[in-house]
Amino acid sequence: MTIEDCDVLIVGGGPAGLIAARELSAARTSRSVVLVERDAAVGTPVRCGEGVGSAGLSEFLDPTDAPWISRRITRVVFRAPNGTEVRVAEGDVGYILDRTCFEPALAAQASAAGAAIRTSVEAVSMQRDGDRWRVSLRTARDANVANIRARIVVGADGVEGAVGRWAGIDTRVRARDMESCAQYVVEDDTFDADAIVLHFGARVAPGGYAWVFPKGERAANIGLGVLGLRAGGRSAIQWLDTYIDSHFPRARLTSRTVGGVIVGPTVRTTVTDGVILCGDAAHMINPLSGGGIVNAMKAGRLAAETIVPALDGGDTSAAALAPYHARWMRLLGEDHVRFYEVKEALARFDDAFFDGLARTVNRIPERRRTLGRIFASALVRHPGLVPVIAKYFV
Ligand code: FAD
Repeated sequence: MTIEDCDVLIVGGGPAGLIAARELSAARTSRSVVLVERDAAVGTPVRCGEGVGSAGLSEFLDPTDAPWISRRITRVVFRAPNGTEVRVAEGDVGYILDRTCFEPALAAQASAAGAAIRTSVEAVSMQRDGDRWRVSLRTARDANVANIRARIVVGADGVEGAVGRWAGIDTRVRARDMESCAQYVVEDDTFDADAIVLHFGARVAPGGYAWVFPKGERAANIGLGVLGLRAGGRSAIQWLDTYIDSHFPRARLTSRTVGGVIVGPTVRTTVTDGVILCGDAAHMINPLSGGGIVNAMKAGRLAAETIVPALDGGDTSAAALAPYHARWMRLLGEDHVRFYEVKEALARFDDAFFDGLARTVNRIPERRRTLGRIFASALVRHPGLVPVIAKYFV
């Protein structure tokens, strides 16, 4: 049997893998880059609220008039457990993507730059083969397994990723760090189509929050995440059904998705000999917000920036790839450790605390209401938070 060779095999065609493919191929080093995605098309099915911040997105793509933007967002509204609303930001807040078009746009850029993007191809195992990895691939059309050898494998295979485990990296998730999420795309006319709404509360989404992310004047992603250990034996979809019934009783539900979000810090090591993990596969989601799209893209870019000199220098060992982990930790990983501590500290407070906090923050004039001032108000109401938040700000 002939075995195909490539320099870099990327497993997973989400934002992390596609940016890694685009940036590696754009580096014009005549390296062969192959990306495999097990789904029939990149970007589908969507398991995501699709919300991204403007600044992060614009580092990678120009959103102006882009067909993969569903909605521009100009307001953020936090909703306390008792329904009190706190408006925090006005202006260029972010976007709700259409990931069924977003990932294909990234894939088109990556393949124009020279990457081979193969859909309906699943990596099923991998073994070390000299200084390369031999990866077994199965296609949807053909039960036979083909092998490909790669000098570097990028594990961009998402929350259920297996590349890290196959390579001996500890990617286990503690139950307390896994949020179960459920989301409907709904048609309704009772939400603010320019605002994202984040709704907190033990009776709304224990351990997480509910979100309303508009995709148009009358369409929105409405979902929530709950921490399994605090969900009282109810699934995310049961919590969501209750939420929709009480807040959007007239909504028409057009589609449904469920999925997991890892809300713990980055895995202890993201590299080993010939392997780099990016995005959800390396637990790079912001533990406070649960957002991971832009983080995944930043990790994909960092991976490419590390891989090019490693291949040029003929050294793909863990030591040669270690700068990736160090750079990620400086860029966002260390912040995530702090965010995680803040999240843990906030989890100790009950709904009455957040209702009171919302009332206090609403006394600050709207144009001066920043996240920093919200934290400051939280400190005044509860000095026990000082050590945690001091660490976050210092
Ligand atoms: P993914 O986007 O998950 O891509 C991984 C890809 O790898 C998948 O396409 C998968 O099919 C493929 N794959 C897996 N295994 C294999 C294999 N063996 N062989 C081949 N292919 C494989 N983040 C935000 O920023 N904003 C939000 O609003 C938001 N909302 C969310 C709502 C929900 C319900 C959920 C579940 C998550 C949400 N997230 C959100 C998180 C966000 O979706 C992820 O952080 C982001 O998609 C991570 O990108 P990624 O490239 O690391 O992984």
